[in-house]
This record gives sequence, C-alpha cells and structure tokens, in this order.
Amino acid sequence: MASASARSKPVYRGRFAPSPSGPLHNGSLIAAMASFLDARAQQGQWLLRIEDIDTPRVAPGADKTIMHQLRVLGMQWDGEPVWQSQRLDVYQAAFDTLLARDEVYGCACTRQELPSEGPYPGTCRHGLPPGRQPRAWRFRVPQGVERFHDRWHGPQQQDVAAETGDFIIKRADGLWAYQMVVVVDDGEQGITHIVRGADLLDSTARQRVLARHLGIDYPSVMHVPLLCDATGRKLSKQNHAAAMDITRPLPTLNKAWQALGFEALAVNDMASFWQIALERWAARYGSTGG
Ligand code: GLU
Repeated sequence: MASASARSKPVYRGRFAPSPSGPLHNGSLIAAMASFLDARAQQGQWLLRIEDIDTPRVAPGADKTIMHQLRVLGMQWDGEPVWQSQRLDVYQAAFDTLLARDEVYGCACTRQELPSEGPYPGTCRHGLPPGRQPRAWRFRVPQGVERFHDRWHGPQQQDVAAETGDFIIKRADGLWAYQMVVVVDDGEQGITHIVRGADLLDSTARQRVLARHLGIDYPSVMHVPLLCDATGRKLSKQNHAAAMDITRPLPTLNKAWQALGFEALAVNDMASFWQIALERWAARYGSTGG
C-alpha cells in the first residue's frame, strides 16, 4: 500500500499581485486573504508579485508597505517577490513572438478618434491610415466565444472580438498594458490558480485568448467579492479607501473573512484565526488534505 508521502501532491502555485499605488486597504485584503487561504489549503505555494508596471500610478514605498502589512497579518509569501518593472525584457520577448506571427499590430488611433463605448472598431487592423505612425500596439483577437469556469461565479462566456475587439498590449505612452504583463507573468511563474477581485472577471476571457497565443496554459480562476463603499463604488485607492488597521489585526482579518461569506471567528490570536480559517476554507473550496 502506498504511504501518504509517496502519493504525488498536485502542484498548486498561486499568487497575490497588488499594484503598489498605495497601501493595501480592506478591499484588497480580501483578494490577498482568499488567494493565501486557497494556496495554503491545497498545500500550494503563494507568490507575491508587485505589479508596478504602470509607473505613473506607483506610489514610492507602497511595495514595502504592502509587504509589511501582509507580514503583520500573518500572510507570508513563498520565495522572493517579483517586481514587474524588472521584467521588461520578458515582456518584450513575448511581444516579439506575437509580432513575428503578425498577431499584434500598430495602432494610430487617438482616444478622440475612438468611440466612447463598444469594441475597438478595427481601424488600423489592416494597416495604418496613410501618413500615420503607430502609437499603441494591439492584439489581433480571433473570432469565437471564450468559455471558462470561475470557481466563485460558475460558467462564463465572452465573445472577446465582439465585446472588446483588438485590445492594447503596449500603450501609447510606451508602457506594457496590464493584460499583457499579467498573462506573461502568470505563464512564466507557472501559476496554476488565480484568486483575485471580481473586477477582473471581465478581463479573464481576454487573458485566456492571449495566453493561448503565447503557448501558456491559463490558470484556473476564482474571482472573490469586492468591498463597496456606501454609494456602491468599489473600494479602491483611486477613491481613497482608508488603509487597513494593522494595529488591530484580528478585527481587520475578520472583516475580510466575513466579506468572503464566512462567520466572524471568535479567536484571541492570529495563529488560531488562520488555523480555523484554513479549515473552513478547505471544507468549502477543497483541500488535498496534506
Ligand atoms: N494588479 C492587479 C490589482 O491590484 C491585480 C492583477 C491580478 O490579480 O491579475 O488590481
């Protein structure tokens, strides 16, 4: 009879990928907590990736603050964190692959020239208008409906060509677009499971299509609830969500835990919080049992 240790454990590599535009707030903590619990419940790795690619939005020192907040709350990541700003050559290589296959094209359209809503109309898809220079670069989205399963929201489908059309992977300001870098990094880091905020559910179909064209196996996804303010807007750094209170870790953790649909845990210390949370998470979302 095979011993427990001889059984091969399924590989799980999850990640938390905050944009360091400010400290974590109660909304971003939900994604951190859910991704952490899911990874630990499956004896997986939990990586930290600092998404500092959108340099105009980066707040100096926010990466260090986020790491401090995670540690104080008992969420220690595995290995060294990765900073996207240090990986520009990796994104360039992926771009070159797509360009060599004519799967990206230069786009001259300014914001004023584009419709305010709806998909990119494809103006530059078959070549730039005479006398125009490329500003941004777009991915040539193939026809077809993208279907996938979200572990929180169930079956999903999106016709990317019809709904967003060819999307930008390199911006007019020369920066790599989020959709591009997230796909390349999840692929390069061997991520198997994405657990993140529900605002990114709508990006998933685009990311899956792009991943396929880069030969990347797209991870399984779970999009967890967002915290909204009294007016129903997503709590975010842009609308000045207050930073988390890490001087009182337990109430802060319990708030995020309740937002994930669980009952507050009546515990006196963080170790007990995480132990019970892990058991409850595993009971609801699955565990390999160690
Ligand atoms: N950096 C993104 C954010 O902070 C998250 C990206 C992701 O998890 O795919 O909203």
